[in-house]
Amino acid sequence: MKKQRKGVFADGKFDFPEIKRHRRWRNMSVDNSYIIGIDIGGTNFRIGAVDSSWNTRSFRKIPVKDVFCQENALEALAEYLKRYLSDLDGKSAAIAIGLPATLNRERTVLLQAPNLPNMENIPMVRELSGIFSIPVYLEKDVSMALFYDRRKYGIPDCEILAGCYFGTGIGNAIMINGRILAGRNGTAGELGHIPADGSEIPCGCGNTGCMENLAGGKYLAWLCRETYPDTPIGELFSKHPKDKLLLQFVDRMAAAVAAEINILNPDYIIIGGGVPAMKDFPKDYLEQQIHVHVRKPYPEQDLQLVFAEDEEDKAVIGAALYAAEHIK
Ligand SMILES: [Zn+2]
Repeated sequence: MKKQRKGVFADGKFDFPEIKRHRRWRNMSVDNSYIIGIDIGGTNFRIGAVDSSWNTRSFRKIPVKDVFCQENALEALAEYLKRYLSDLDGKSAAIAIGLPATLNRERTVLLQAPNLPNMENIPMVRELSGIFSIPVYLEKDVSMALFYDRRKYGIPDCEILAGCYFGTGIGNAIMINGRILAGRNGTAGELGHIPADGSEIPCGCGNTGCMENLAGGKYLAWLCRETYPDTPIGELFSKHPKDKLLLQFVDRMAAAVAAEINILNPDYIIIGGGVPAMKDFPKDYLEQQIHVHVRKPYPEQDLQLVFAEDEEDKAVIGAALYAAEHIK
């Protein structure tokens, strides 16, 4: 019988024993110490104070423009954080920020973000750690999500874990032996920006024809407006399950995931984000097409696909988990 883990919503249980191993965290009172997890998206800014039991307190979701995407982005963020921290009843051990952006190899500078216009070359770690005098960590938002999903779905220690997150674009995080792969310039894992044959759609990254413009949520929203203007986007897959353009879209998602699998042969691959979480999204078809596109007989015969649920505070808690693993 073919060995294959079905791509289903795994029912994981939270257990984060590793955080308690960190001396700095252990020495703090569990009741009133936090890691501040921040998820800066293209539209929303999410923040929470995450305690050592992995409960998020004082969770806030506000438009990103109110806090970050403006002329004095760092000043605005620092001012918001000062107010946020002063309202918290307890100490903060670290601040960890996830961004939909490329970062430098050292994870200290935001380099460029297709969905955060004009936010380039921002030395976030230097500025914020100077102001708040606690460690500040930066990672891609999808890396934070991967830290969360790895724990939630009980992924065992392994050599290669990859996450493909289909939201507005395609987010990709690759973990090698427990560490996020950064690459020479910090920009490893830009799966959304592999070229799609024949496409001339301009991408927020500056190139044309990137895959995420044909296999990401932005394209899906466009397709919905153009083809089914009377269907709310949330109903797209429910009302038009056999639509050829929608299935072509899902096949492109599969092609992106298969490209990742064919290059890395990962131990596990997590598929998440808002698009696969849509009502009646055809997960079986996506899984089938991934199998169509990956190399035979291996890795095709031994794929370990995990479909992850989309959760509001995933990258916030994931950021705290990331920080807990990196506090020295
Ligand atoms: Zn691009």
